[in-house]
Amino acid sequence: MADRIGTEEGSGSVLEVSRRYVTVLNADGEVVTGTLSSRTMQLATGDRVSFETRSGQVFVTKVHEASRRLFRSYRGAVRCMGANIDHLFVITAVGETLNPLAIDRMIIAGRMGAIPLSLVVNKQDLGFEHVTFITSVYERMGIPVLPVSAKAEQGLDQLTSILDSDSCATVALCGVSGVGKSTILNKLVPGAKAKIGELSERTGQGKQTTTQPRGFLYRVQDKSPKVIIDFPGVGYFGLSHVDPIALMDAFDEMRSVKGQCRFLDCRHLQEPGCVVRDQVESGEIAGWRYQSYLQILQEIEDAKAY
Ligand code: GDP
Repeated sequence: MADRIGTEEGSGSVLEVSRRYVTVLNADGEVVTGTLSSRTMQLATGDRVSFETRSGQVFVTKVHEASRRLFRSYRGAVRCMGANIDHLFVITAVGETLNPLAIDRMIIAGRMGAIPLSLVVNKQDLGFEHVTFITSVYERMGIPVLPVSAKAEQGLDQLTSILDSDSCATVALCGVSGVGKSTILNKLVPGAKAKIGELSERTGQGKQTTTQPRGFLYRVQDKSPKVIIDFPGVGYFGLSHVDPIALMDAFDEMRSVKGQCRFLDCRHLQEPGCVVRDQVESGEIAGWRYQSYLQILQEIEDAKAY
């Protein structure tokens, strides 16, 4: 809309932020690059912004309030990795890259932001039955488990049906290196420049090839493009900023027995009469889930002591 002579106003959603430049998907489905009109403006991929175009240059003038934000702590700083995320695909894979602690971290980060999520299990061609003892725990928590093989192009329709739904404008893909995230992204967005890392034969882990959070355009016929946010280079989601009580609540097994331990402020460590520890011993709570809790809690405590 022409507001003042030579000035156009617009709005859009942030695809990528660098030190000086912002790439925005505007309301007409075009990608424009601009600069921030104030140095104090904090932006994340997925943020909705207003901008002005003056003499062909784009200036972001306002960042709108965001919801469903994904945070990660890293080296003592908390960073918003993405905003207004309608669905988070937590990606893992059959084989050596399956890492329950990494999955738990991503799920907790997603739940802290109240982001609907599902667990994508890639490389199902290597035998999905090998991982059902883990995935069934997440299914019991109500998290949809989507077995796929990006390589064999199997099961990806489960992702596209979520992406194609009208309520979904922005999704995010997260997963540790080597799970096949770039391969999945390249199938969803043909031509995405994500490089496919070669699996190191020695470690079985994939090589990391890219860095900043970045929104890719997923095109749906006759609709405005949707955004797929990729978090390259994010090995794991640091959670040292999370409140310990919120952490307990983010573990469904603990939330469901809340208030049943002998001590109301039980942290499920060494306290006598702890129902959570009893359930870990009896196998009702998976030991590896409890280990995830202990490791993340330790990380939170270490950050406080620092
Ligand atoms: P990223 O590090 O998570 O982005 O993973 P990449 O997409 O780079 O893939 C890591 C390795 O896993 C590559 O060697 C891929 O060829 C391989 N890979 C990806 N998807 C599949 C799959 O569905 N099945 C199998 N067996 N391998 C896959």
